[in-house]
Amino acid sequence: MNKPLLYVFILAFVVSCGTEAKKSPNVFFAGEIINPTSEYVVLYKDEIVIDSAKLNQDNKFSMQLESVVEGLYHFNHQPELQYVYLEQGDSIMIRLNTEDFDESLIFSGRGKEINNFLLELFLSTEEEIPIAYSYSRLNPDEFANKIDSLRQLKVSILNVLQKEAKLSESAISMAQASIDYNYYNYKENYPFWHRHTSGSKTIPKLDDNFYSYRKNIDYNIDDLTYHRYYYNFLKTHFDNLTYMGCASNCNGEHIQIIEDKLHFNQHKLKLIDSLVNSKKIRDNLFRSVALYYLINVHDTENNIEEFISDFHKYSSNNKHIAEIEAVYEGVKNMQPNKKLPPVLVYDNGENKVSLQDIAAKEENAVFYFWSATQKGHFENIIQRVNELQKQKPEYTFIGINCNTEMMRWQSMLITNNLDLDYQYRTDDFENLKYTLVIGGLNKGIITKNGLIVDAYADLYRSF
Ligand SMILES: [Zn+2]
Repeated sequence: MNKPLLYVFILAFVVSCGTEAKKSPNVFFAGEIINPTSEYVVLYKDEIVIDSAKLNQDNKFSMQLESVVEGLYHFNHQPELQYVYLEQGDSIMIRLNTEDFDESLIFSGRGKEINNFLLELFLSTEEEIPIAYSYSRLNPDEFANKIDSLRQLKVSILNVLQKEAKLSESAISMAQASIDYNYYNYKENYPFWHRHTSGSKTIPKLDDNFYSYRKNIDYNIDDLTYHRYYYNFLKTHFDNLTYMGCASNCNGEHIQIIEDKLHFNQHKLKLIDSLVNSKKIRDNLFRSVALYYLINVHDTENNIEEFISDFHKYSSNNKHIAEIEAVYEGVKNMQPNKKLPPVLVYDNGENKVSLQDIAAKEENAVFYFWSATQKGHFENIIQRVNELQKQKPEYTFIGINCNTEMMRWQSMLITNNLDLDYQYRTDDFENLKYTLVIGGLNKGIITKNGLIVDAYADLYRSF
């Protein structure tokens, strides 16, 4: 769409909404997606779908929402998502290009100010994280000064915005929390970052002054449950508290703390239980500990059982319990010398075939995973598999595509000269992910005559 047309579209939109009473409980959310990657835009509050809209032939959508509860929402245009802050009476329009999702996103209409602020904050923070990391080689006071001045910059931008636009109190406190918890997170990370960047062998001991913000932490801000800075802060904070707790009360030495993964994660569950009351936040934090432990630690079956029994002790009514049980089942089934699970995938002729049968046909096989939505990863993994095929001719490499639509998948196979006999596809990646315990797309599964050799191989590190 060219600019004059867009201008007319926005103008018409603003005018039509401007006639509404200011206190209208309704919210209008609309926009245009350039280069759409899906037919829908879906609006969520936490994990609950509030509304969805199909793109029309001009790739535009609109939603009329009644009696909106103010707060942070997110909208999803598969496979990407972004936040939108909604208040009664808002009429927000977005425009974005999926080729450059976050960078191209623009909010306009009533409610745009806070949304553009939150988006800018997000984009500038992405650039700032490596800088904050590099500051971590400094001593604690110097680091704190640098971080405080970065924070001050954001606070002054918010202060100017507050004067220019009439932001509601809850919008201001959301923006303030977005700034603060991100900077608290840098401080929670500092001792661990410092160990890496300074080459020190030990984790520095920090006085109460360094952590002075901790007296202001609110562990129970329900409305920020799904806010990435708040949530990331909580996760790092509990890592930090657990580590320091283990150092002073349990194992003591750094190496023991990081090696005894079962103890560390049990200790973390206990701390979360003692400090967090909000059910939503507890559920999410417990889930995050469980998934990390189950997917990344690859502990013995006995240890895993002990961990799960603790998990049930603290969080038996966790709303994610089905997901955690599914991953637990997956982990138990993916132990060495077991048969690969009989999960079904499609071959190139759209026939359903069991992974177990595919594996059984090959003496030595490596299963690898890719998705059309992660182009960079796809190009790298194909190149890596080509290398490995030359270096390790004894293995058959079998590609599993995740959730790419059939025609697009086939054309990608042909364009990239992939052997159609060794390429399969799933349209239910959620299920595959749990069944095969896929934590990241560089994962490989190595089998020998259909039996699992290593369910947690890494295409770059295991060969
Ligand atoms: Zn401990």
